[in-house]
Amino acid sequence: MTKTLEKQFEAEVKRGTYQMIINGEPVKAKSGEIMEVFNPATGEKIAEVPKAGAKDVDSAVEAARNAFDYGKWKKYPVGKRARVLNKIASIMRSRFKELVEMEVINSGKTLSAAQGQVSQAIENFEFYAGAIVGHRGEVNNVPGRFFNYTQKEPVGVAAQIIPWNYPMMMAAWKIAPAIAVGCSVVLKPASLTPITAILLTEICHEAGVPEGVVNVVTGPGASIGSYLTEHEGVDKVAFTGETATGKDIMSKASQTLKRVTLELGGKSPNLVFPDTDMEAAVNGSVFGIFYNTGQSCEARSRLFVHEDIYDEFLEKFLNQTKQLVLGDPLSDKTHIGAIISQSQLNKIDQHVQDAVKEGATIVAGGEPIKVEGFENGYWYAPTVITNVTNDMKIAQEEVFGPVVVVMKFSDEKEAIKLGNDTNYGLAAAIWAKDQGLIKRVSDGLQAGVIMVNCPFSAMPGTPFGGYKQSGFGRELSIESLDLYTETKSILSYAGSKPLNPFNL
Ligand code: NAD
Repeated sequence: MTKTLEKQFEAEVKRGTYQMIINGEPVKAKSGEIMEVFNPATGEKIAEVPKAGAKDVDSAVEAARNAFDYGKWKKYPVGKRARVLNKIASIMRSRFKELVEMEVINSGKTLSAAQGQVSQAIENFEFYAGAIVGHRGEVNNVPGRFFNYTQKEPVGVAAQIIPWNYPMMMAAWKIAPAIAVGCSVVLKPASLTPITAILLTEICHEAGVPEGVVNVVTGPGASIGSYLTEHEGVDKVAFTGETATGKDIMSKASQTLKRVTLELGGKSPNLVFPDTDMEAAVNGSVFGIFYNTGQSCEARSRLFVHEDIYDEFLEKFLNQTKQLVLGDPLSDKTHIGAIISQSQLNKIDQHVQDAVKEGATIVAGGEPIKVEGFENGYWYAPTVITNVTNDMKIAQEEVFGPVVVVMKFSDEKEAIKLGNDTNYGLAAAIWAKDQGLIKRVSDGLQAGVIMVNCPFSAMPGTPFGGYKQSGFGRELSIESLDLYTETKSILSYAGSKPLNPFNL
């Protein structure tokens, strides 16, 4: 961005009017249409962003294509790209407060959640700045007269489509590995939470990413997201969102055989064994479901407790749940923030009401609530449901809200069977001391991420992604670099006599 445009961008941000960034320039939608952006905690409008259409997507893809096909980014020495990634991280650090506050205001999440997620976004750029330096091909064993090596080459233009639950973190998970290897990207944030993705794209330019390498388009998923997945100019689609959307994307992307990675939904089991450290298990299980107001793909929404400790555990779990503070998301005393939208609130409540109709019992929460000072926001009481069997809809479908079902199990085998009895396979937690049992249960669970006596599912460096209908591909780790690269095999003949394979 030129200095004048930087100033213009700054002024627009102050007015709450954000532009997309295409080819390094702030741009409006060609149609002139806009989308309004709201604070879910207050219901207030906070900003306007362009509502892009197909022509805007064409411009963004063209910019990314040109940057990839003819630009300098992928040709930079790897150390130079690494320095730019570190610079992105350091600018983010210097703007930490602003980024955190914007994330809170746009998503309704709590200050502490946003602080953790923006920190992780920053560390993600630092991680890939380091990881890319060691990312390389191999020399393979071939007969002595031959020589074979492989090299990793960027896959091209990546369309990156992300959800609303971790806006900044998801943008960082997507952009960092892609640009580290030399790809260009067109990022499409969720319509409800576009702001920090735009800010991050601006920061990428400030740090020295050349124009066209990182582009951001804002608009409805059903139209422009879908258009991106079919676009001839796109080589790869990296998507995070609902499983149903992922299936649609995979089928559309197959028409041009795009590379696809999908990070989808979950219904993760949380298994508490009788020898557990009770305090750690209760703390971790409450955090495991209610963190980010339960709007997490890895939310441990099915809590299975061994029958011998079920009553004691449930009492302690309920006591803690009742202590959770809902309120001003910008206060560091608040544990539970707002639900992202009225329609998500309705969806959560419908799930809970359906569970009651199926015979479940609500032992905490179970309804939308009003929060003092935030009466026009969207709030749902932390909800605990018992008398549930694992085949009920509430135990099988992703609620994506602060709702947990609690069930009993009687032995290790049953715990594994129940844990796996879902279409999803994103994450699972184990609370136990017996190391043999922990190993056996970890081995038996079909999930991409296993948390052992640990409330956290991931940090930069740890692979994150799912089994089964939770998708495929791993982010946040070295593996992600492979998913943005093609492997080229170079086989050469090094013998002294010419080869004559046809014996002519
Ligand atoms: P969503 O699928 O509705 O939307 C995600 C993104 O896709 C948005 O940007 C949206 O605009 C776009 N989109 C919607 N329809 C599209 C289409 N037909 N073609 C292309 N793009 C389209 O998901 P959401 O409601 O924003 O997010 C919640 C979901 O995301 C949950 O299911 C959650 O489990 C999942 N999630 C998964 C992970 C993970 O790493 N596995 C992480 C976070 C969220």
